[in-house]
This record gives sequence, C-alpha cells and structure tokens, in this order.
Amino acid sequence: MSEANPVARRRTFAIISHPDAGKTTLTEKILLFGGAIQLAGEVRAKANRRQTRSDWMGIERERGISVVTSVMTFEYADCVLNLLDTPGHEDFSEDTYRTLTAVDSAVMVIDAAKGIEARTRKLFEVCRLRDIPIVTFINKMDRETRDPFDLLDEIEKTLALDTAPLTWTIGRGRSLAGQYDIRRSTLTPLGKDAATIPVNGPDDPRVMELLPEHERAEAREELTLAVEGLKAFDKTAFLEGHLTPVLWGSALKDFGVKDLIDAMAEFAPSPRAQAAASRTVKADEPKMTGFVFKIQANMDPNHRDRIAFMRVCSGKLQRGMRARLVRTGKPVTLSAPQFFFAQDRSLAEEAFAGDVVGIPNHGLLRIGDTLTEGEEIVFRGVPSFAPEILRRVKLADAMKAKKLREALQQMAEEGVVQVFQPNDGAAAIVGVVGALQLDVLVERLDAEYGLPVSFEPSRFEVCRWVASGDKAEMDKFLAAYPSSLATDLDGAPVFMATSAFNLRYEQERWPKIAFTDVKDYQ
Ligand code: GDP
Repeated sequence: MSEANPVARRRTFAIISHPDAGKTTLTEKILLFGGAIQLAGEVRAKANRRQTRSDWMGIERERGISVVTSVMTFEYADCVLNLLDTPGHEDFSEDTYRTLTAVDSAVMVIDAAKGIEARTRKLFEVCRLRDIPIVTFINKMDRETRDPFDLLDEIEKTLALDTAPLTWTIGRGRSLAGQYDIRRSTLTPLGKDAATIPVNGPDDPRVMELLPEHERAEAREELTLAVEGLKAFDKTAFLEGHLTPVLWGSALKDFGVKDLIDAMAEFAPSPRAQAAASRTVKADEPKMTGFVFKIQANMDPNHRDRIAFMRVCSGKLQRGMRARLVRTGKPVTLSAPQFFFAQDRSLAEEAFAGDVVGIPNHGLLRIGDTLTEGEEIVFRGVPSFAPEILRRVKLADAMKAKKLREALQQMAEEGVVQVFQPNDGAAAIVGVVGALQLDVLVERLDAEYGLPVSFEPSRFEVCRWVASGDKAEMDKFLAAYPSSLATDLDGAPVFMATSAFNLRYEQERWPKIAFTDVKDYQ
C-alpha cells in the first residue's frame, strides 16, 4: 500500500439505508467482489438467525441486529476501499452519525418497492450537512418494484437532489433480465457468468431480446427515455453534493454490485480536507493527524481490550510512531495499530489519510480525540446529540457507588451512553438516544464491572447544553437553577428540563442563553 500518491487511491465510505433495504446483503457482496472474502453467505451462514462477522456482542446476536461499527478495508482496481459499517438499528443512530464524520462519500441503498424511507432520509440529511457525496443503489430489482421514473422523481423531490442514472434496468421483478450501461452503451444480462457486451445504443436488438416479447415495446420506450431524457452524470455536481448517480440492482442476485464498486473506484472522492478548530488540514499534508470517532470494547472476548477507531486525516501513520494526544498533551506510542476486516484484524505497518486504524488502549483514548505529530489542533465535528431518554441508574449494592461512577465515566467516554452529573450532588443521570443503548449498558456494567444495575425514571425528560456569550447572564442563569443543572463528561453545563414545555418556557425567559441539542465533542 505504499505506491505513489496513496491518498488519491483511497475511498472511504459508508452505506446508509433504512433497515431491511439490503445493507447487510450488499456489504457482503461488495466484500466478495472486492476479494475480501471467499464465500458469499459465510458472513451470515449460521442457521436462520442473522449473524454477521461484525457481530461481537451477545446482545446483538440475541436480537439479530448489528450494534457495532466495524471497518472493512480491501483493495480494488488500484484503489484502497475503506467501507465503514454502521449499525442498522435506529437506537444506535448516534454511532452512525459519528461514523459519517469519518467518511468521504456514502452509498444510499433504497428498496425498489419502498422508495425513500424515514431513516434513509434522516441519514441523508446528516450526509448533506457534511457535504458528503452520495451514490444511490436501488436494490431488490428482482422483486416487484415501483416505477423507476417515480423512484427517481421521489429522490429528486424529497431529498432535493438531482439524479443521473448510470445504468438502466432491463425488466424488473420476475422479468429482471439485465442492465444497460448508459455512459458506456454496454449490456449486461442477468446471471453470474454473463459477460458485458458493447451494443449500438438502446435500439440495438440484443437489448430487448433479453425480455419476453410482450414486454419489449414498453421497455424500449422506457430505456430510450432514460438514455435521452434524463440528466447525464456530472462529476462536479456529484462531488458538490447536488447530484446522485443512480444504479439499479439486486444485492441478493449479485446484480449491479460490481458496477457500484466500479463507480466508487472511478469517481467517489479521495480523502477530503478536515476542519480543525484553528485551520483546515489537507489530506496530502506530510504530518500525521487523525481523530477518534468510535470506541469499541470487547471485540475479542478472550482479550479484554478496547479499540479506538481513528480516521487518519493527513500524513502517514507508521507503526511504532509517537503521536501526541492533544487533549492531554501526552505522547501516545502507536505500537500496534490495526486494520480490520470485520472480526479479522492485521497489524498496520503504515496507514494514510482516509484509512481507519484501530488503536488498542486501556481507556486512554476517547471519542473526539485528536492525535497529531505535535501540532495543537483539534478536529471538529464528532457530534453528541441531546439524549431522548433520561434515566437514573439504580445500583443493587450501594457500596459500589464509586465503582459505578468510574464505570459510567468509561461508558460515556466510549460513547455507549451519555452521563450527566447533577450540580446538586444527586445520583448520575444517563441519557441515550435509543432504548437499546440502555440494554447494552446493563449488560456491560454487569459483565465487565460486576455491577448489576437497573434504571428508574428521572424527573427530567429533556436536556440541552447551555452557553452564552454574555458571561454575567450565564452566571445568573447557572445560579438560578442549581437543581436543574448538570455537567456532561467534559464538564460542559447542561440544563435539565422536566418537560418540553418547561424547556420552551425557560428558553423564552432567557433569550441570551443558547440551548443546543447537538454538541461537538470537546
Ligand atoms: P438490512 O437490514 O438493510 O441490512 O437488510 P438485509 O441485507 O438484511 O436484507 C433484508 C432482507 O431483504 C433479507 O431477507 C435479504 O435476503 C433481502 N434482500 C436483500 N437484498 C435483496 C435483493 O436484492 N433482492 C431480494 N429479493 N431480497 C433482498
């Protein structure tokens, strides 16, 4: 991986979708085409229960959901592709948002029968906030689908995003027969070993011969309209986030997947510049910088370790190098950085901008940490979201309060839950975006710290970070509500409200105080 211009070769991306659209299946197929695994289905072969190789924790196996975020790195067509997996379940969306801060592009998977669904839309908005270009894969074309033009129209209208199909589907549902590559004028019949052949445009008789006779007239009309009437792909508009190239396929039938990877290799952006508080760091700068966007504990049940996933933003990370942890100013020796393929890992001798490496540590690194070769910069934009559920932790054994405090601090640093310490000394409050995060907390406190806990409702329902440019006003506010204020992991003040109404009321009373529901780490 040390060829000239390693940065330009890298494509770091994630897949965004609504549950059930086919993300897991597509991920498997991408890895298969990318040569990363030999056997399709190996990823999920076990019995009838969904179990992917990225399933590490008992809880996710039990529930058949993928909780953790993993990284899969493989080489394809002169490119190094880093696919960052995200949890499918909405309750772990915080994790997904953080992961999206570490990618340069995303693949949006849409179920052809359903179109844009709620979660696709939400995740798309997160990508748009960060100007992440999107490639669209319309999946399950082997099933009954909606009209393709309607689907494009829906993307354009609901996401305010131009579409440019790169391919067009020949038949769909039970008569899915192949696809036509609009830019290249080639035809690929459905079927594992079917070869792609050049054709003389949409009117070439070989195109429609794939379909039964009674379907040809309509299909021909559609294809002509698609080729002549729809927008052509425009790379600049794509990179600027105004346009999405669209591919049709069936992850299940291995169809269209190679075109998707080819498209990623051909025009997905190489590593972008990253904004730090004081300046923007370009990917091709010589000095190594990176930020931690994810902490994963217990990846290997036999070795109680913690891995911090760091996106390299510039320079070259070399095994054994000493980096500076900017938050503490202390040096960190990167003695065993790792590359991942789901559960398998290998030592990373060197890594470049765009790569994601796992750094084993014992609680030293937190989400949002910046590592450099000495420079005092802090990357912005690994966000924390105001939790939607607040609970008090009830400890079975009151003697273990100190241990609980330490454990909660650790869980907060890993991003499992958020922890708020009330200013009046009351018991800590944990906050989560999704209820399943609480289940993970219970399981981990028990398994790792021997702390059986349960939860009780908190008298607070909503919380917001508070800040003000007017220090006197802020001090007045803080003094006015001693029992409704708490501090988060970083010591930032948080206002706890008993209801949404209560929050609105206070917002109106204190116009100079900003109440925010998103906070960058640090
Ligand atoms: P995820 O929740 O987005 O990860 O979706 P999965 O990959 O688990 O797929 C959900 C269901 O749709 C599974 O039963 C898959 O076998 C099925 N599926 C995925 N892709 C396709 C496809 O292209 N065609 C058909 N017919 N089924 C698919």
